[in-house]
Amino acid sequence: MNLVLLGPPGAGKGTQAHYLERDFGLKQLSTGDMLRAAIASGSEIGKQVKATMDAGKLVPDAVIIAMLQERIAQPDCKGGFILDGFPRSLTQAEALDKMLAARGLSLDAVIEIRVDDQFLVERITGRFTCGKCGAGYHDRFKPTRQAGVCDACGGKDFVRRADDNAETVRARLQVYHSQTAPLLPYYRAKGRLRTVDGAGEMDMVYRQISGVVKALPGG
Ligand code: AMP
Repeated sequence: MNLVLLGPPGAGKGTQAHYLERDFGLKQLSTGDMLRAAIASGSEIGKQVKATMDAGKLVPDAVIIAMLQERIAQPDCKGGFILDGFPRSLTQAEALDKMLAARGLSLDAVIEIRVDDQFLVERITGRFTCGKCGAGYHDRFKPTRQAGVCDACGGKDFVRRADDNAETVRARLQVYHSQTAPLLPYYRAKGRLRTVDGAGEMDMVYRQISGVVKALPGG
């Protein structure tokens, strides 16, 4: 089964993809994580995309399409995958259709996680993760039990994404509405779009998403 999670920054795509990976044996493919790894490794691509990401803009379609094409050809994607953060433009969506068709694959569903902009800025600017194990937290909604200590692994170093500041979040939301939201009618016309309410707790959102997935053929 191959799924796309679509939604604005801060909608919880990464968290939900992680749950789906755990329960349905699908591989989470986050283009944002791939790009951050490229930056951290000091690679040529990382150097090219850093300023664009820090500004909250989209990395050029050609770069991201090539990156994803290579990724879905890996053996760990054979059992199906969840795209988290891709496609983000119509050009990417069309390229995805072509690359899947070339491999005899298709999308089973595109799940839109709908959240109003007003909730997103606070959600994003408060989030941080453990630098050691990657567990996610939030200053207000999900603080660590003991200040400065990761609940999951006891780690004491935490990281915040460079683009999770209020100014960049606003730019990312604008980009979502102008470049990514046109994918909603695109997938609705193909009969692939499912929408869930992403405003509540992550567990509540996941109940809706897992319900959608279980109702799919083969789910
Ligand atoms: P994310 O982790 O999905 O929020 O992505 C973080 C940043 O990576 C975005 O703001 C973009 O700069 C870049 N990015 C991730 N995925 C894509 C994509 N599919 N197309 C273009 N840029 C992307």
